[in-house]
Amino acid sequence: MSRAMNFNAGPAALPLEALERAKAELLELGSSGASVLELSHRGKEYTAVHEETIARLRKLAQLGDDWAVMLLQGGASQQFAQVPMNLLGAGKSADYVVTGVWGEKALDEAQRTAKLLGGTVRVAATTADGKAYRRVPRQDELSLDAGATYVHTTSNETIHGVQYASPPAVGAVPHVCDMSSDFLWKPTDFSPYAMVYAGAQKNIGPSGIVIIFAKKEFLARSRTDLPKILQYKVQLENDSLYNTPPTFSVYLARNVLAWIESQGGLPGIEKANREKAKLVYDALDGGKGFYTLPVERESRSTMNVVFRMPTEALEERFLAEAKKHGMIGLKGHRSVGGMRASLYNAVPVAWAKALAELISEFARANG
Ligand code: PMP
Repeated sequence: MSRAMNFNAGPAALPLEALERAKAELLELGSSGASVLELSHRGKEYTAVHEETIARLRKLAQLGDDWAVMLLQGGASQQFAQVPMNLLGAGKSADYVVTGVWGEKALDEAQRTAKLLGGTVRVAATTADGKAYRRVPRQDELSLDAGATYVHTTSNETIHGVQYASPPAVGAVPHVCDMSSDFLWKPTDFSPYAMVYAGAQKNIGPSGIVIIFAKKEFLARSRTDLPKILQYKVQLENDSLYNTPPTFSVYLARNVLAWIESQGGLPGIEKANREKAKLVYDALDGGKGFYTLPVERESRSTMNVVFRMPTEALEERFLAEAKKHGMIGLKGHRSVGGMRASLYNAVPVAWAKALAELISEFARANG
């Protein structure tokens, strides 16, 4: 077996311990006589896994009883539609702050929903620079509607590598945030938000679930005339078990959350994440102009490091060299090209160190 140093953007590296545990438990979960893949989602063994996953999320995020935690399907992309479907309608308005392609997609789904269900969707700010995004907006660039039903942001833009260092101030308007690619990478104060959602397949587990934290009083305002499968209220009343959940994805997220706890919890995870980002950015900055970093320093992502080289031929050569060193997943998103190293929770510091060394060495040899 040879497991690579995996810098994929998502699905992404998972902690080896979480996978080893799944391997050991795959044929029989506890003394159930069957795999978690084969057990009823209403039975006691899976119920324990489901409840443990939610309890671990609550504990890591330090959420009080006023918060709901849901595990849904359809990915973050479904939330792009489900958020406005549940919250918009005639006479209501939502603000969108766009800092990359995922924010554009969220905006587009909200606009489609407003056409169907009524309501208005505004762009409160965008930092588009042609096709590129290089930064988050300054506070004075946000033109917020104080009467909006909610304002939507993307805390980390996975493709462009643009991340908020701290959440923007949005006044009293409920803040809904797509945290897919920087969810639980550090101890996080969720009190500025009304709702956050995150696909699990970057920091928390495999694809198949999207994790939602929402203030119960915010969800209480959501629509009850939608098809039931799309209503937050129905999912909440049924503990995310309205229909069959992706049981194996929830199970594996449970293993990852237990692993996070074993790493010193979120403070331990943050320390490693900051160290990894520093190693890689320092190597790129130290490349004496060989590397171009499109994102302004204050908006640089700790999770997705985006960089370019003088020519595409050199980028191809770098990828080949990286492969020889046992590294995969460093090609940038097909929509923007270039290079991207994703440094999610499960990426060990040693991999970031190896990558930083390769970055420095490659600039020396080719600069
Ligand atoms: N939002 C962000 C920030 C993402 O990075 C992604 C996926 N890369 C999505 C939304 C969409 O997630 P999914 O493919 O799970 O729908």
